[in-house]
Amino acid sequence: MNPTNDPKKRSFIEVPADHDFPIQNLPYGIFRTNDNAPHAGVAIGDFVLDLVVIEEAGLFEGVGKGFLFRNKETLNHFLAQGKAVWTAVRSRVSELLDAENPTLRDNEELRQLALVPRAGVEMLLPVHIGDYTDFYSSREHATNVGTMFRGADNALMPNWTWLPVGYHGRSSSIVPSGTPVRRPKGQTKADDADSPTFGPCRLLDFELEMGFFVGTGNKLGTPIDMEDAADHIFGMVLVNDWSARDIQKWEYVPLGPFLAKNFATSISPWIVTMEALEPFRQAGPKQDPPPLDYLAGGGDRSFDINLEVAIQPDTSETPYVVCRSNFKYMYWSITQQLAHHTVSGCNTRPGDMLASGTISGPTPDSYGSMLELSWRGTKPLQLGNGEERKFIKDGDTVIMTGHAQGDGFRVGFGEVSGKILPAD
Ligand code: MN
Repeated sequence: MNPTNDPKKRSFIEVPADHDFPIQNLPYGIFRTNDNAPHAGVAIGDFVLDLVVIEEAGLFEGVGKGFLFRNKETLNHFLAQGKAVWTAVRSRVSELLDAENPTLRDNEELRQLALVPRAGVEMLLPVHIGDYTDFYSSREHATNVGTMFRGADNALMPNWTWLPVGYHGRSSSIVPSGTPVRRPKGQTKADDADSPTFGPCRLLDFELEMGFFVGTGNKLGTPIDMEDAADHIFGMVLVNDWSARDIQKWEYVPLGPFLAKNFATSISPWIVTMEALEPFRQAGPKQDPPPLDYLAGGGDRSFDINLEVAIQPDTSETPYVVCRSNFKYMYWSITQQLAHHTVSGCNTRPGDMLASGTISGPTPDSYGSMLELSWRGTKPLQLGNGEERKFIKDGDTVIMTGHAQGDGFRVGFGEVSGKILPAD
C-alpha cells in the first residue's frame, strides 16, 4: 500500500474520525486570507497548510523543478507537472503533517505561518478551467429522463450503451461553492401555446455530479488511450450543474443544451486527488454490450463515494436531505470519458474539467435531480418543515456533500453549496 493511504497514519493536528480532511486525504485548493494574494493549500482537519510557506521554507526541495506554487494564483502549473511530481508532493506533505515527524510539529514559528484556520479563509476556484465538458453517464438518470420524455420502451437512445454521450459546456460560469446563483431568464413555450414567452425560469433544478480535472493533457491529434488515461487525471470535485428545465425543453432541439446550462455550474473548492481515492477504487457496473476496444481495459474503473443533496429553504436553519446516491452507479467511467473525448484527436489541457452527468442510483431516493425526484413535478417532495418542493425556489440553498468511507477515517470532499437569488 502507498504509505500516504495507511489507515493507521495520524497527524499531529487532531482530526475526528468522521472529518472530511484527515491525513489520508490531503486535498488541494486555492485560498485567500483578507486581501492577500491567493495561495495554494492542502486541507488538514480545520486548517489549511499553506504550500507557498512550505515551499519558501525549502521543504519541497528535491520535489519537482523550480517553484510549483510560489506566485501562482491557480494549481494549473502544478497539474501540468505530471503524476511523478503529484506523488512526490503528496508524499512530502504527508510526512510533514505526520504525528511522528518533528520538522513542522516542533517548529512553532513555521507552524504559525504555515497552518491557517480554515474558518478564516476564502476559497477560490482551484484551477483556471480552460474547457468544461459534461457527460450523461448514469444509466439510471438517462433511463429516468428518457422514460419521462419518450416512454419506457424508448428510454435509452441506441447510442447510449456504446459511447459516453456528452456536450461541450461553458467554463466561464463555473463558480466556487458559496457563490449565489441568480435564477436565469429565457424563452419557454407551453405545450399548448402557439409561441414562446420570455421570463424567469420556472423549473429550476440541480444536477448531482462529480467532475475530474485533467492534469497533463494531450497534444492535438494524439488521443489518450485507456491504459494511460488514469495517469492524466489529477483529482475530483463535487459539481452542481444547475439546469433550467423549461428553457432546456424548448431550446435543445436539435443541437442540445445551451442557455439552460450555461448560467452557472458550482464546484466544491477542494480537489481530492486520485491517489487519495485509490483505496476506494472498484469494478463499476458490468457493461453490456462490451465496449469497443478503444473504450476497454484499464482495470477497475469506478469509486465508492457516498453522495448527498440537501435543500435549505430561506426560512429554515436546517438543510433537508432529498437525495442519497453514490458515484459507483456511474456506467461510463472517468477513464472512458477521457479516452472517448480525445479519440477524435481533440486536445485537453491542464485544468480542463470533465463532469459525470447527473448521478442517479437505482432507488427513487437516490435520484440526482429534482426532475427525477419529483418525477416532473408530479410527486412533490416533503422537506420536513411542512414545505414541499417540485423544483428549486428563490432563497433555497442547495448543498451537496460526498465522502469515501475508510476503516476509521473518511476521504471527504467538503461541500458545494449555492443559494438561488430571484431573477433580475
Ligand atoms: Mn449536467
